[in-house]
Amino acid sequence: MPLHLTMTGVYAGTPICGAAREPHDEGVHMIYAPLDNPEWRAKVCPDCLKAYVDSFEPEELAGLPDDHWVKQAAMKPSDEQPGLF
Ligand SMILES: [Zn+2]
Repeated sequence: MPLHLTMTGVYAGTPICGAAREPHDEGVHMIYAPLDNPEWRAKVCPDCLKAYVDSFEPEELAGLPDDHWVKQAAMKPSDEQPGLF
């Protein structure tokens, strides 16, 4: 079962990928998610990861090291999935 990243605030608990959350699905607040841990990240819903990467502004990406997974994911052409996550 997918582990969704969820929003905080008004939409707390809503997966950022836009999927309807099933009662048995796990959700972790995006801001608390240990996304820099590759093993943990492997359990997360791919659509949520994509939405997370898409949420970065170009300036934010520019501030990341070149080998940061978010930067690499953002620079990868979307038709060049899967295997990215
Ligand atoms: Zn999701």
